[in-house]
Amino acid sequence: MLEEYKQLRKDSLQKTRDKRKNQECKTFTLKIQKNSLSTNQSIFLNKLFIEAKWFYNHVLNQNDIFSSSVRKHAKAKIKVLDHFEERELNNLSSQMKVGLHERICSSIKTLATLKKKGMQIGKLKFIPEVNSIELKQYDITYKFVENNRKIKIQGFKKPFRINGEQQIPKNCDFANAKLIRKASGYYIQITVFINKEIKQKQKNEVGIDFGIKDNIVTSDGEKFNCKVTESKRLKKLQKIFSKKQKSSKERFKVLKKIKKEYETNTNKKQDIANKIVFHLKSNYKTIYIQDEMISAWHKGLFGRQVQHSALGTIKTKLKNLESTTMIERHHPTTKLCPQCGKINKISLAERIYKCECLYTEDRDIHSAKNILMIGKAKNNPSVEHISKELESKTYTVSEKSETASYDSLKAEECESLAHI
Ligand SMILES: [Zn+2]
Repeated sequence: MLEEYKQLRKDSLQKTRDKRKNQECKTFTLKIQKNSLSTNQSIFLNKLFIEAKWFYNHVLNQNDIFSSSVRKHAKAKIKVLDHFEERELNNLSSQMKVGLHERICSSIKTLATLKKKGMQIGKLKFIPEVNSIELKQYDITYKFVENNRKIKIQGFKKPFRINGEQQIPKNCDFANAKLIRKASGYYIQITVFINKEIKQKQKNEVGIDFGIKDNIVTSDGEKFNCKVTESKRLKKLQKIFSKKQKSSKERFKVLKKIKKEYETNTNKKQDIANKIVFHLKSNYKTIYIQDEMISAWHKGLFGRQVQHSALGTIKTKLKNLESTTMIERHHPTTKLCPQCGKINKISLAERIYKCECLYTEDRDIHSAKNILMIGKAKNNPSVEHISKELESKTYTVSEKSETASYDSLKAEECESLAHI
């Protein structure tokens, strides 16, 4: 009997795996309507997150953290001032506990791996709040009801009214979800599997340069501005915040408003990033980008400028695309003349790239075109000799006239830009 059961399970897993091969995974975030929450629903959600925090810290305090028996604990021991008190977990379902327990286990494992690599790490700490709870199985921990306009969450009878359900395509498979608490309210983030569309459109290749002034430029000459400025309201709130007395109620209230403002800002960045990445993804079969130093900019001179744009978000999204190819950082894409291979210095005040061989181009488009050329050579062995030739040229020139490495040149470039 047991063997039979095992075989059945194995078959069904294999079936799912085969199905997933022709599907793509997407996530959608739905908002729980704040003004249609009943008092009991508000209390339930609030309690859920408090209990999640209790359970999380309780598990961390156990000797047998990895044992699955801790998931069955119905009460959590929490520290109140100098002693421990027991709290009942009435709302947190067993599946939610499993999710939290798995999160702790995987965090510990990650820390252990980092330690093995020689990084200095501390212990996993007790936390002041939990802001997301896993809803592991569709139909059990959560499900749609009433034409997808409401969602039922395990542990509460009355379903929750939601916004944004129209984003979800028809005929998709629902996988895990997450209940999320943000400054602006409660959200449900759902993972779904959708059948892949097979498109056989003739598409071209493109090189992309991440500048600072125009932000993003393609080798086809398209420019995208991805600046997101901080709102005046945020600056005002920050001023008020600094004047309020520490740990006062008013200060906490202002902090909540600031958090909400930051959330809006992040949403704007995500929106811009999604639109640009979607545009590039659907129009080009291969995207070439250069492994530049956005993270270094974050720390250095450009911190503010980069933070105020969706640049970082776009780069991360592009990096994760199947159609993206990275070219190495050492290629001097800003200075190289694609026509004669000479390396020309170009100051940041100059918006046009000029070479002795009469080649001229807009400086950002020029870089993007170079990225495309180098990327193509890398991906296509039949033109590999061009890339090799390029590299040898680059090296001979740079050895004679420039001893500085490309990285320091780029840093120099950043520095001079700061003075503009
Ligand atoms: Zn030239």
